[in-house]
Amino acid sequence: MDSFEYKDGLLYCENIKITDLTNDIKTPFYVYSYNTLKNHFNVFDNSFKDINHITCFSVKSNSNLTILNIFKNLGSGFDIVSGGELYRTLKVNADPKKIVFSGVGKTPEEIEFALFSDILMFNVESYEELISINEIAKKLNKKAPISFRVNPDVDPKTHPYISTGLKQNKFGIDITKAVDLYKRAKSLEFIEIVGIDCHIGSQLTEVAPFIDAIKRVKNLIKDLNQIGINLKYFDIGGGLGVKYKDENPPSPQEYANAIKNEVKDLNLTMIFEPGRVIVANAGILVTKILYFKSNDFKNFVIVDAGMNDLIRPSLYQAYQEIIPVDKNNCNKIKADVVGPICESGDYLAKDREIEVKKEGYLAVRSAGAYGFTMSSNYNSRPRPSEILVKDDEYFIIRERESYQDLIAKEKIVEV
Ligand SMILES: *Cc1c(COP(=O)(O)O)cnc(C)c1O
Repeated sequence: MDSFEYKDGLLYCENIKITDLTNDIKTPFYVYSYNTLKNHFNVFDNSFKDINHITCFSVKSNSNLTILNIFKNLGSGFDIVSGGELYRTLKVNADPKKIVFSGVGKTPEEIEFALFSDILMFNVESYEELISINEIAKKLNKKAPISFRVNPDVDPKTHPYISTGLKQNKFGIDITKAVDLYKRAKSLEFIEIVGIDCHIGSQLTEVAPFIDAIKRVKNLIKDLNQIGINLKYFDIGGGLGVKYKDENPPSPQEYANAIKNEVKDLNLTMIFEPGRVIVANAGILVTKILYFKSNDFKNFVIVDAGMNDLIRPSLYQAYQEIIPVDKNNCNKIKADVVGPICESGDYLAKDREIEVKKEGYLAVRSAGAYGFTMSSNYNSRPRPSEILVKDDEYFIIRERESYQDLIAKEKIVEV
């Protein structure tokens, strides 16, 4: 169910030929399919339609304003992890009562901004953070709605950098200490306990770790009920994986059925924070082949997109499929696809069978999540543009940065 397909050897996004885009727009650039974004959101959200729930799209996976606005119009709430992300969601007039604020290091300014904005809840990650929220709420004379993010110590069986629910990870509070923390929170005047939260990691390709985590949290919810602490929300985070290569993640329906079965007796409003599963396969990164070179060991295809544009391969050794924008007259070679950045870790693919031609263009698939949002200006490279395709129209939803943008905040100080 994605909208990137070939016709007569030419890659399309919906009804736009990518070659038409490369004629008009300087590479590299991201392209997103409106239809895929909409379908992915609706499939996820509809699979929970028979229970009380809020789907809070994880802004860090793709934070473009047009994309946030699309999800808002489909009824989405938002999971934010910074004041900047809150600012973005408010810019698209998101309903603050559908915004949850996660993250281990919320600053006093961010807490104040979120309290002032009347968000649904803070997912609190430490006792000290709780105290800080209470003090700031007192200053504003407001009650701060909170849940604790508990760390259920289950292994999500994903890449260590994106695993968050194990004891050795920095996230959440130890589940065995949670009752004590809830008691302390209950005694604070400007805190209102509303829920419980856990997020165990990203790119999970099995349902079992989610269910293990839910079971552990359910035990905790029972213990809390016994001491008179009743909750409204159970936030189980995001993390559902996608197919990059040969993964076989559960479908949103399978995921939903397993979860619904586990939580049906709870009578709480469920909160979900999906990111990757909604946007990853709704986007590609288009890049131009600059040069070929070979040595005794390897072929290299040198392209104009680097790790500053898309860091997942360099950072997580992530596999993302790379396909030609125009299959006609291509040759198949085995090569490393590398960028222009002065780092050996700057690659998009290693030892990959790939179809290429001189001066051709390539599309890196599954680039809609953690693509643009993790991009940087390393090597003083302007960040790429972002394009949204809807049927036979396209829209530039973020302009490519200019050299002036690169230095906009700098000063030459003569010292
Ligand atoms: C990153 C993150 C998500 C989204 O994770 P995905 O794997 O993209 O679904 C959700 N919740 C929290 C707290 C996160 O940090």
